[in-house]
Amino acid sequence: MRLSRYFIPTLREAPSDAQIASHQLMLRAGMIRQEAAGIYAWLPLGLRVLKKIEQIVREEMDRAGAIEVLMPTLQLADLWRESGRYDDYGDEMLRIKDRHERDLLYGPTAEEVITEIFRAHVKSYKDLPKNFYNIQWKFRDERRPRFGVMRGREFLMKDAYSFDVDEAAARRSYNRMFVAYLNTFSRLGLKAVPMRADPGPIGGDLSHEFIILAETGESQVFCHRDLVEMPAPGDVDWDGDLQPIVDQRTALYAATEDMHDQGRFESEVAESDRLSARGIEVGHIFYFGEKYSKPMRAVVTGPDGQERPIHGGSYGVGVSRLVGGIIEASHDAAGIIWPDAVAPFGVAVINLRPGDSAVDLACEQAYGALRDAGKDPLLDDTDERPGAKFAAMDLIGAPWQLIIGPKGVAEGKVEIKRRATGERQSLPLEDALKAIIA
Ligand code: ATP
Ligand code: MG
Repeated sequence: MRLSRYFIPTLREAPSDAQIASHQLMLRAGMIRQEAAGIYAWLPLGLRVLKKIEQIVREEMDRAGAIEVLMPTLQLADLWRESGRYDDYGDEMLRIKDRHERDLLYGPTAEEVITEIFRAHVKSYKDLPKNFYNIQWKFRDERRPRFGVMRGREFLMKDAYSFDVDEAAARRSYNRMFVAYLNTFSRLGLKAVPMRADPGPIGGDLSHEFIILAETGESQVFCHRDLVEMPAPGDVDWDGDLQPIVDQRTALYAATEDMHDQGRFESEVAESDRLSARGIEVGHIFYFGEKYSKPMRAVVTGPDGQERPIHGGSYGVGVSRLVGGIIEASHDAAGIIWPDAVAPFGVAVINLRPGDSAVDLACEQAYGALRDAGKDPLLDDTDERPGAKFAAMDLIGAPWQLIIGPKGVAEGKVEIKRRATGERQSLPLEDALKAIIA
């Protein structure tokens, strides 16, 4: 991409109502624009990151055997009347009427819709297990939308729903999602810790929130230090027994505020291993048994020919929240430091003297080679001063910068800079490209 023809409306200063680093940086880097409280337009740079995160989430869901669908954003109120949640959901639900006076709503989640699809088509235990997911915009009329995309009203969520014949099978589905989440967050460059979460009125121990630690997190969390550094399981035998992996993660103490038991924490975890910190919830998985299948009559015939309600679970990832979460975890005073996997551009090629034919030529060569190597380069070919270019590229946060100016070119050299460390090196263009493409 050539910056002169692109659209990155950076701001010198963030609006004063942006309180946390990720919100400030997303506005300053021209990633998003607020259209209404908690409702954002995604500008080109932000959209590139959002799409990359979405794709990683998708790949890990597919790997774990979930099947992608796309459900509508607008749902019929009648479905929610069937499950009994239409009145319970309260003011967070955005309720709409169509021209026929039919009650619709902008979906805050999709248990009802997926259950309706399931019951229409799946009739036998032989067709189970099934796990459907979609990556779709949700709307929750949050009381206090804040922190930019972290707590929006309209936000992008990956939500998956599992259907199983009994509780034991449902637990296997739950475990698959548990492991898939560990892998997903690890690929995003995040250290996410699964923590015991409030399972709600159904009870049981099958609900975990995946939390990344950050000072600006909305909840207080408590866990054993070792959980933060545990490596992700990677590809596993998805049909095999995943319980040992889950057990390894859940054996050590980890709980969110609502579930925290200080006495247990102190007796189970040595003082030096105790971590009490702020955290951001990036995912939440949940087994809820027959909560929706019973009232909505999502039944299958079992081996005995008898009909039974399926056992369900749901599994959410905050895709748009992750954009902010990743920035909270990875930035410095100058701007964003994107992990390679989600960087909007892999390299910023900075032309320090557009119009100088030797510099332009070197930039074009570099740009072409990096593009051919799949590195998504952004070529800054604008007429800005060098200082402004450096500041903008640090703000935007591409993992590499390739800096090309007249003095270097005359000596046959260019400069590369690693955004994360600030480390700079001066070397021939060919070697620079090798270092970046390696
Ligand atoms: P929270 O406790 O943060 O309000 P929740 O428990 O209501 O979230 P879930 O219903 O579990 O959220 O939704 C799944 C995921 O969607 C959450 O883990 C979070 O990452 C994301 N999410 C929820 N609400 C929002 C929001 N208002 N803005 C952005 N992302 C959100
Ligand atoms: Mg939650």
